[in-house]
Amino acid sequence: MSKTLIRGAKVLGGDPQDVLIDGETIAAVGAGLQAGDATVVEADGLILLPGLVDLHTHLREPGREDSETVLTGTRAAAIGGYTAVHAMANTFPVADTAGVVEQVWRLGRESGYCDVQPVGAVTVGLGGKQLAELGAMADSAAGVRVFSDDGKCVDDAVIMRRALEYVKAFDGVVAQHAQEPRLTEGAQMNEGIVSGELGLIGWPAVAEESIIARDVLLAAHVDSRVHICHLSTAGSVEIVRWAKSKGWKVTAEVTPHHLLLTDELVRSYNPVYKVNPPLRTEADVMALREALADGTIDCVATDHAPHPHEDKDCEWAAAAMGMVGLETALSVVQQTMVDTGLLDWAGVADRMSARPAVIGRLAGHGRPVAAGEPANLTLVDPAYRGTVNPAGFASRSRNTPYEGRELPGRVIATFLRGRATVVDGKLA
Ligand SMILES: [Zn+2]
Repeated sequence: MSKTLIRGAKVLGGDPQDVLIDGETIAAVGAGLQAGDATVVEADGLILLPGLVDLHTHLREPGREDSETVLTGTRAAAIGGYTAVHAMANTFPVADTAGVVEQVWRLGRESGYCDVQPVGAVTVGLGGKQLAELGAMADSAAGVRVFSDDGKCVDDAVIMRRALEYVKAFDGVVAQHAQEPRLTEGAQMNEGIVSGELGLIGWPAVAEESIIARDVLLAAHVDSRVHICHLSTAGSVEIVRWAKSKGWKVTAEVTPHHLLLTDELVRSYNPVYKVNPPLRTEADVMALREALADGTIDCVATDHAPHPHEDKDCEWAAAAMGMVGLETALSVVQQTMVDTGLLDWAGVADRMSARPAVIGRLAGHGRPVAAGEPANLTLVDPAYRGTVNPAGFASRSRNTPYEGRELPGRVIATFLRGRATVVDGKLA
């Protein structure tokens, strides 16, 4: 059994402490711990967080291994400080059976870099017409608890109601990609001043907000859990705030890019900024930051969406939607939430680890940094300043909107059940 002593780390941003890892477990947390035969990691000035948990990752395997595989995606996750990711179901074939979710789960285990928790599709083939085998996926070795047709909205209210009722049997949750399809036909960017000036078809806020309003009401009606993916508008925040005030079982996530970028960037016509839901306005960005700070939005989820360059390096209208995000998420959250004073590091641990683990019912992750807990940990240098260079990404894809930007912070080390997956900022 290998031992590691992390010496002098600011646990959740607090006073420096030593953390002794023995095998897969945190053995002790305190001042002046003896190293003995342990490998020592000097952590002066570094922040120690529980390993990050992503509720929303597209790993693309099976079917689109040209953009990402479970192995490359989990390597990117480890570099970003993650110890667990939820893999979205919009693969080829779709993860709508016990067989496919077990395959993804097993590939994650074999990768060794990060736990992979498969998300099951809500409907067969993401077709929106017929419920998938939710119970069989829940009972499989993968133990699916999060169900989503992400990429597509479950727009049929009866199907959504049935899914919400069905997942109650195994404490599951339906994660909705809220996009009213008719209101967004042909949409290329946020509907607003910029879309008007550019003459591009707009994706209006109401297309997101109307589905969220319907689904929180449906969840309340059947007393089930609904999770709203990638909230992007100030109006969506207001609806979720209202639903939570009623005590309904509603949770929500926001992506790093929606905390930082606005639709003004679309004026460049650089497809790297094309994403679904689209980048919104400065007022939306500010409302999302405040909602994440006050807990109305439960967590940050990357919506890591890798695409090969031929699907992104083309004209705006033809380009695929989505951005990679695993390797930059924590830096963007530091810039937008920590360095602005909206959230402290304990808050980051809550929004990027504890809460997503609870929403996904993921045992062993999102736990306190305390003796007896699984040693899933991330060591961060908040003083680091560097320029994003996608050529160095562990992800197979390069479609980051932050190329050339200076972002704060860097993951120095990641531990998955006591084993270092990242050392000195590089894959171990
Ligand atoms: Zn989505």
